[in-house]
Amino acid sequence: MTSTSKYEMMQHVLTELKQPAYRFQQIADAIFKQRIGEYDRMTSLPKGIRKELIKHFGEHVLNLTPVMQKTSRQVNKVLFSMAGGDHIEAVQLSYKRGWKSYCISSQCGCGYGCRFCATGTIGLKRNLTADEITDQLLYFHLNGYALDSVSFMGMGEALANPHIFNALKILTNPRTFGLGHRRITVSTIGILSGIDRLAKEFPQVNLTFSLHSPFDEQRSELMPINKRFPLNDVLNELDQHIRNTGRKVYIAYILLRGENDSNEHAEAIAALLKHRGSWEHLYHVNLIPYNSTDVTPESFHQSDKDRVQKFAGILKSQGIKVTVRTQFGTDIDAACGQLYGYNKQI
Ligand code: SF4
Repeated sequence: MTSTSKYEMMQHVLTELKQPAYRFQQIADAIFKQRIGEYDRMTSLPKGIRKELIKHFGEHVLNLTPVMQKTSRQVNKVLFSMAGGDHIEAVQLSYKRGWKSYCISSQCGCGYGCRFCATGTIGLKRNLTADEITDQLLYFHLNGYALDSVSFMGMGEALANPHIFNALKILTNPRTFGLGHRRITVSTIGILSGIDRLAKEFPQVNLTFSLHSPFDEQRSELMPINKRFPLNDVLNELDQHIRNTGRKVYIAYILLRGENDSNEHAEAIAALLKHRGSWEHLYHVNLIPYNSTDVTPESFHQSDKDRVQKFAGILKSQGIKVTVRTQFGTDIDAACGQLYGYNKQI
Protein backbone atom coordinates (compact mmCIF):
# COMPACT_ATOMS: atom_id res chain seq x y z
CA MET A 1 0.00 0.00 0.00
CA THR A 2 1.44 3.36 -1.02
CA SER A 3 2.16 6.04 1.53
CA THR A 4 2.17 8.79 -1.11
CA SER A 5 -0.75 11.00 -0.18
CA LYS A 6 -3.41 12.31 -2.53
CA TYR A 7 -2.08 15.82 -1.93
CA GLU A 8 1.35 14.76 -3.26
CA MET A 9 -0.35 12.92 -6.12
CA MET A 10 -2.32 16.05 -7.03
CA GLN A 11 0.93 17.97 -7.36
CA HIS A 12 2.35 15.23 -9.64
CA VAL A 13 -0.76 15.31 -11.80
CA LEU A 14 -0.61 19.12 -12.08
CA THR A 15 3.08 18.95 -13.05
CA GLU A 16 2.30 16.35 -15.73
CA LEU A 17 -0.41 18.64 -17.04
CA LYS A 18 2.17 21.47 -17.09
CA GLN A 19 0.03 23.60 -14.83
CA PRO A 20 1.41 26.66 -13.00
CA ALA A 21 2.55 26.17 -9.41
CA TYR A 22 -0.38 28.14 -7.97
CA ARG A 23 -2.88 25.50 -9.15
CA PHE A 24 -2.22 23.26 -6.18
CA GLN A 25 -2.78 26.17 -3.84
CA GLN A 26 -6.13 26.80 -5.55
CA ILE A 27 -7.14 23.20 -4.86
CA ALA A 28 -5.87 23.36 -1.28
CA ASP A 29 -7.72 26.65 -0.70
CA ALA A 30 -10.92 25.14 -2.09
CA ILE A 31 -10.64 22.17 0.30
CA PHE A 32 -9.19 23.80 3.39
CA LYS A 33 -10.50 27.39 3.22
CA GLN A 34 -13.81 27.00 1.39
CA ARG A 35 -14.49 23.44 2.63
CA ILE A 36 -15.36 22.19 -0.86
CA GLY A 37 -15.32 18.40 -0.98
CA GLU A 38 -16.05 17.74 -4.69
CA TYR A 39 -13.59 18.56 -7.44
CA ASP A 40 -16.38 19.62 -9.80
CA ARG A 41 -17.45 22.40 -7.42
CA MET A 42 -13.97 23.94 -7.34
CA THR A 43 -14.92 26.72 -9.71
CA SER A 44 -11.66 28.60 -9.25
CA LEU A 45 -10.12 25.85 -11.42
CA PRO A 46 -10.58 25.56 -15.18
CA LYS A 47 -13.14 22.91 -16.16
CA GLY A 48 -10.46 20.79 -17.89
CA ILE A 49 -8.41 20.56 -14.68
CA ARG A 50 -11.46 19.61 -12.65
CA LYS A 51 -12.14 16.81 -15.13
CA GLU A 52 -8.56 15.57 -14.86
CA LEU A 53 -8.78 15.57 -11.05
CA ILE A 54 -12.01 13.56 -11.19
CA LYS A 55 -10.37 11.13 -13.64
CA HIS A 56 -7.45 10.55 -11.23
CA PHE A 57 -9.09 10.84 -7.82
CA GLY A 58 -12.83 10.29 -8.24
CA GLU A 59 -15.51 12.91 -7.59
CA HIS A 60 -14.90 13.38 -3.88
CA VAL A 61 -11.80 14.57 -2.09
CA LEU A 62 -12.74 12.42 0.92
CA ASN A 63 -12.11 8.72 0.31
CA LEU A 64 -13.61 7.36 3.53
CA THR A 65 -17.33 6.67 3.72
CA PRO A 66 -19.09 7.49 6.99
CA VAL A 67 -21.44 4.56 7.61
CA MET A 68 -22.65 5.18 11.13
CA GLN A 69 -22.62 7.97 13.64
CA LYS A 70 -23.38 7.76 17.35
CA THR A 71 -23.76 10.91 19.38
CA SER A 72 -24.01 11.45 23.11
CA ARG A 73 -23.78 14.68 25.08
CA GLN A 74 -20.28 15.81 24.21
CA VAL A 75 -19.14 12.99 21.98
CA ASN A 76 -19.68 12.16 18.36
CA LYS A 77 -18.29 8.83 17.12
CA VAL A 78 -18.12 8.09 13.40
CA LEU A 79 -17.60 4.67 11.89
CA PHE A 80 -15.95 4.87 8.48
CA SER A 81 -15.74 2.24 5.81
CA MET A 82 -12.50 2.19 3.78
CA ALA A 83 -11.67 0.89 0.32
CA GLY A 84 -11.66 -2.90 0.72
CA GLY A 85 -14.53 -2.82 3.22
CA ASP A 86 -12.65 -2.58 6.55
CA HIS A 87 -13.90 -0.18 9.20
CA ILE A 88 -12.24 2.36 11.48
CA GLU A 89 -13.58 4.81 14.02
CA ALA A 90 -12.88 8.43 14.92
CA VAL A 91 -14.26 10.38 17.86
CA GLN A 92 -15.03 14.07 18.13
CA LEU A 93 -15.09 15.54 21.64
CA SER A 94 -16.77 18.90 22.24
CA TYR A 95 -15.55 20.87 25.20
CA LYS A 96 -16.96 23.99 26.79
CA ARG A 97 -16.53 27.20 24.79
CA GLY A 98 -16.73 25.22 21.54
CA TRP A 99 -13.27 23.59 21.58
CA LYS A 100 -13.31 20.52 19.31
CA SER A 101 -10.87 17.72 19.92
CA TYR A 102 -10.50 14.53 17.88
CA CYS A 103 -9.30 11.05 18.61
CA ILE A 104 -8.29 9.32 15.38
CA SER A 105 -7.21 5.82 14.38
CA SER A 106 -3.81 4.91 12.97
CA GLN A 107 -4.34 1.21 12.26
CA CYS A 108 -7.26 -1.02 11.38
CA GLY A 109 -7.31 -3.26 14.45
CA CYS A 110 -4.09 -3.70 16.41
CA GLY A 111 -1.63 -6.54 16.86
CA TYR A 112 -0.38 -5.71 20.35
CA GLY A 113 -3.15 -7.38 22.33
CA CYS A 114 -3.27 -5.21 25.46
CA ARG A 115 -5.74 -7.06 27.65
CA PHE A 116 -7.94 -4.10 28.62
CA CYS A 117 -8.39 -2.86 25.04
CA ALA A 118 -11.25 -3.69 22.66
CA THR A 119 -9.23 -2.82 19.55
CA GLY A 120 -6.58 -5.36 20.58
CA THR A 121 -9.09 -8.21 20.39
CA ILE A 122 -9.43 -7.74 16.62
CA GLY A 123 -5.76 -8.29 15.79
CA LEU A 124 -3.96 -6.15 13.22
CA LYS A 125 -5.70 -5.99 9.88
CA ARG A 126 -3.42 -3.34 8.42
CA ASN A 127 -1.74 0.02 8.81
CA LEU A 128 -3.77 2.98 7.62
CA THR A 129 -2.33 5.08 4.81
CA ALA A 130 -1.56 8.76 5.38
CA ASP A 131 -4.76 9.57 3.47
CA GLU A 132 -6.90 7.24 5.58
CA ILE A 133 -5.49 8.85 8.72
CA THR A 134 -5.97 12.45 7.58
CA ASP A 135 -9.36 11.77 5.92
CA GLN A 136 -10.84 11.10 9.38
CA LEU A 137 -10.21 14.79 10.11
CA LEU A 138 -11.04 15.94 6.59
CA TYR A 139 -14.53 14.49 7.11
CA PHE A 140 -15.14 16.74 10.12
CA HIS A 141 -13.49 19.72 8.43
CA LEU A 142 -15.69 19.43 5.33
CA ASN A 143 -18.73 19.24 7.59
CA GLY A 144 -17.88 22.66 8.97
CA TYR A 145 -16.21 21.76 12.26
CA ALA A 146 -13.06 23.39 13.64
CA LEU A 147 -10.08 21.11 14.23
CA ASP A 148 -8.66 22.40 17.50
CA SER A 149 -6.65 19.42 18.72
CA VAL A 150 -5.98 15.88 17.60
CA SER A 151 -4.87 12.73 19.42
CA PHE A 152 -3.65 9.53 17.85
CA MET A 153 -5.46 7.51 20.49
CA GLY A 154 -8.10 5.75 18.41
CA MET A 155 -7.62 2.28 16.98
CA GLY A 156 -4.04 1.07 16.70
CA GLU A 157 -0.53 1.80 17.93
CA ALA A 158 0.42 5.01 16.13
CA LEU A 159 4.20 4.55 16.27
CA ALA A 160 3.95 1.06 14.74
CA ASN A 161 2.65 2.63 11.53
CA PRO A 162 5.35 4.52 9.56
CA HIS A 163 2.62 6.27 7.54
CA ILE A 164 1.75 8.44 10.52
CA PHE A 165 4.83 10.51 9.80
CA ASN A 166 3.52 11.46 6.37
CA ALA A 167 0.10 12.05 7.97
CA LEU A 168 1.76 14.41 10.49
CA LYS A 169 3.41 16.27 7.61
CA ILE A 170 0.03 16.79 5.94
CA LEU A 171 -1.69 17.78 9.18
CA THR A 172 0.95 20.37 10.05
CA ASN A 173 1.50 21.71 6.52
CA PRO A 174 0.23 25.32 6.43
CA ARG A 175 -0.93 24.75 2.83
CA THR A 176 -3.29 21.96 3.88
CA PHE A 177 -4.62 21.33 7.41
CA GLY A 178 -2.17 23.78 9.02
CA LEU A 179 -2.52 22.36 12.54
CA GLY A 180 -0.02 23.56 15.14
CA HIS A 181 2.41 20.82 16.18
CA ARG A 182 1.52 21.38 19.83
CA ARG A 183 -2.14 20.72 19.08
CA ILE A 184 -1.29 17.11 18.15
CA THR A 185 -0.66 14.22 20.55
CA VAL A 186 0.77 10.85 19.63
CA SER A 187 0.14 8.00 22.03
CA THR A 188 2.37 4.94 22.28
CA ILE A 189 2.75 1.77 24.31
CA GLY A 190 6.52 2.29 24.03
CA ILE A 191 7.86 1.57 20.54
CA LEU A 192 11.43 2.81 21.00
CA SER A 193 12.35 3.46 17.37
CA GLY A 194 9.09 5.38 16.87
CA ILE A 195 9.69 7.59 19.92
CA ASP A 196 13.14 8.38 18.59
CA ARG A 197 11.85 9.22 15.10
CA LEU A 198 9.05 11.40 16.50
CA ALA A 199 11.56 13.42 18.54
CA LYS A 200 13.73 13.94 15.46
CA GLU A 201 11.01 14.77 12.94
CA PHE A 202 8.24 16.31 15.07
CA PRO A 203 9.83 17.44 18.34
CA GLN A 204 6.94 19.77 19.20
CA VAL A 205 4.24 17.12 18.85
CA ASN A 206 3.04 15.90 22.27
CA LEU A 207 3.86 12.37 23.32
CA THR A 208 1.85 10.15 25.66
CA PHE A 209 3.23 6.89 26.98
CA SER A 210 0.74 4.22 28.13
CA LEU A 211 2.14 2.87 31.39
CA HIS A 212 -0.74 1.03 33.13
CA SER A 213 1.55 -0.73 35.60
CA PRO A 214 4.85 0.31 37.20
CA PHE A 215 5.80 -3.36 37.72
CA ASP A 216 7.46 -5.14 34.80
CA GLU A 217 5.84 -8.48 35.49
CA GLN A 218 2.31 -7.11 35.69
CA ARG A 219 2.86 -4.76 32.78
CA SER A 220 4.00 -7.68 30.61
CA GLU A 221 0.80 -9.47 31.55
CA LEU A 222 -1.41 -6.50 30.71
CA MET A 223 0.64 -5.35 27.73
CA PRO A 224 2.73 -8.06 26.03
CA ILE A 225 4.86 -5.34 24.33
CA ASN A 226 6.61 -4.93 27.69
CA LYS A 227 8.56 -8.14 27.05
CA ARG A 228 10.04 -6.61 23.90
CA PHE A 229 10.46 -3.07 25.19
CA PRO A 230 10.73 -3.24 29.00
CA LEU A 231 9.66 -0.32 31.11
CA ASN A 232 13.13 0.91 32.04
CA ASP A 233 14.30 1.01 28.42
CA VAL A 234 11.22 3.02 27.48
CA LEU A 235 11.67 5.44 30.39
CA ASN A 236 15.30 6.00 29.41
CA GLU A 237 14.14 6.75 25.85
CA LEU A 238 11.51 9.14 27.23
CA ASP A 239 14.19 10.92 29.29
CA GLN A 240 16.13 11.36 26.08
CA HIS A 241 12.99 12.62 24.35
CA ILE A 242 12.46 15.26 27.05
CA ARG A 243 16.11 16.30 26.98
CA ASN A 244 16.04 16.66 23.18
CA THR A 245 12.71 18.43 22.87
CA GLY A 246 12.24 20.25 26.19
CA ARG A 247 8.61 19.12 26.01
CA LYS A 248 6.39 17.42 28.57
CA VAL A 249 5.78 13.70 28.29
CA TYR A 250 2.38 12.46 29.43
CA ILE A 251 2.06 9.13 31.21
CA ALA A 252 -1.35 7.54 30.61
CA TYR A 253 -2.52 5.20 33.34
CA ILE A 254 -5.84 3.33 33.08
CA LEU A 255 -7.07 2.46 36.56
CA LEU A 256 -8.38 -1.10 36.95
CA ARG A 257 -10.09 -1.86 40.26
CA GLY A 258 -8.05 -4.24 42.42
CA GLU A 259 -5.48 -4.73 39.63
CA ASN A 260 -3.30 -1.64 39.35
CA ASP A 261 -4.92 0.92 41.66
CA SER A 262 -3.27 0.10 45.02
CA ASN A 263 -1.20 2.48 47.14
CA GLU A 264 1.87 0.39 46.23
CA HIS A 265 1.22 1.01 42.55
CA ALA A 266 0.97 4.77 43.13
CA GLU A 267 4.16 4.77 45.19
CA ALA A 268 5.97 2.70 42.56
CA ILE A 269 4.92 5.13 39.81
CA ALA A 270 6.27 8.01 41.91
CA ALA A 271 9.52 6.11 42.45
CA LEU A 272 9.84 5.48 38.69
CA LEU A 273 9.38 9.13 37.80
CA LYS A 274 11.54 10.67 40.54
CA HIS A 275 15.30 11.04 40.65
CA ARG A 276 15.60 10.83 36.89
CA GLY A 277 17.29 14.19 36.44
CA SER A 278 16.63 17.90 36.16
CA TRP A 279 13.96 17.27 33.50
CA GLU A 280 11.77 14.98 35.64
CA HIS A 281 9.22 17.74 36.31
CA LEU A 282 8.22 17.40 32.66
CA TYR A 283 6.56 14.04 33.30
CA HIS A 284 2.82 14.41 33.82
CA VAL A 285 0.58 11.50 34.82
CA ASN A 286 -2.95 11.30 33.40
CA LEU A 287 -5.18 8.90 35.34
CA ILE A 288 -7.90 7.46 33.11
CA PRO A 289 -10.99 5.63 34.35
CA TYR A 290 -11.29 2.17 32.75
CA ASN A 291 -14.16 1.61 30.34
CA SER A 292 -15.50 -1.89 30.10
CA THR A 293 -16.64 -3.32 26.76
CA ASP A 294 -18.33 -6.54 25.59
CA VAL A 295 -15.02 -7.95 24.39
CA THR A 296 -12.55 -7.15 27.19
CA PRO A 297 -12.24 -9.39 30.31
CA GLU A 298 -15.21 -9.31 32.69
CA SER A 299 -12.81 -9.29 35.63
CA PHE A 300 -11.74 -5.72 34.78
CA HIS A 301 -13.72 -2.99 36.46
CA GLN A 302 -13.47 0.73 36.90
CA SER A 303 -11.80 1.88 40.13
CA ASP A 304 -14.06 3.56 42.70
CA LYS A 305 -13.95 7.35 42.76
CA ASP A 306 -12.46 7.40 46.29
CA ARG A 307 -9.67 5.07 45.20
CA VAL A 308 -8.88 7.27 42.21
CA GLN A 309 -8.65 10.33 44.48
CA LYS A 310 -6.44 8.46 46.97
CA PHE A 311 -4.21 7.24 44.13
CA ALA A 312 -3.91 10.76 42.72
CA GLY A 313 -3.25 12.08 46.25
CA ILE A 314 -0.30 9.74 46.76
CA LEU A 315 1.26 10.82 43.48
CA LYS A 316 0.76 14.50 44.32
CA SER A 317 2.21 14.07 47.79
CA GLN A 318 5.35 12.69 46.14
CA GLY A 319 5.63 15.74 43.92
CA ILE A 320 4.31 14.07 40.75
CA LYS A 321 2.09 16.18 38.47
CA VAL A 322 -1.18 14.37 37.96
CA THR A 323 -4.58 14.93 36.33
CA VAL A 324 -7.64 12.72 36.61
CA ARG A 325 -9.13 12.68 33.11
CA THR A 326 -12.81 13.40 32.59
CA GLN A 327 -14.67 10.48 31.19
CA PHE A 328 -16.47 10.98 27.90
CA GLY A 329 -18.38 8.72 25.62
CA THR A 330 -18.57 5.47 27.59
CA ASP A 331 -22.27 5.12 26.76
CA ILE A 332 -21.50 4.91 23.05
CA ASP A 333 -18.25 2.91 23.33
CA ALA A 334 -16.22 5.93 22.30
CA ALA A 335 -13.90 6.16 25.29
CA CYS A 336 -10.28 5.08 25.57
CA GLY A 337 -9.80 1.43 24.66
CA GLN A 338 -13.38 0.99 23.49
CA LEU A 339 -13.00 1.52 19.76
CA TYR A 340 -13.80 -1.63 17.96
CA GLY A 341 -14.74 -0.72 14.40
CA TYR A 342 -17.81 -2.89 14.32
CA ASN A 343 -21.07 -1.91 12.75
CA LYS A 344 -23.04 -2.45 15.94
CA GLN A 345 -26.57 -1.15 15.98
CA ILE A 346 -27.44 1.47 18.59
S1 SF4 B 1 -4.02 -0.23 23.84
FE1 SF4 B 1 -3.25 0.50 21.88
S2 SF4 B 1 -1.49 -0.85 21.46
FE2 SF4 B 1 -2.70 -1.87 23.06
S3 SF4 B 1 -4.05 -3.25 21.90
FE3 SF4 B 1 -5.16 -1.31 22.23
S4 SF4 B 1 -4.80 -0.13 20.38
FE4 SF4 B 1 -3.26 -1.76 20.45
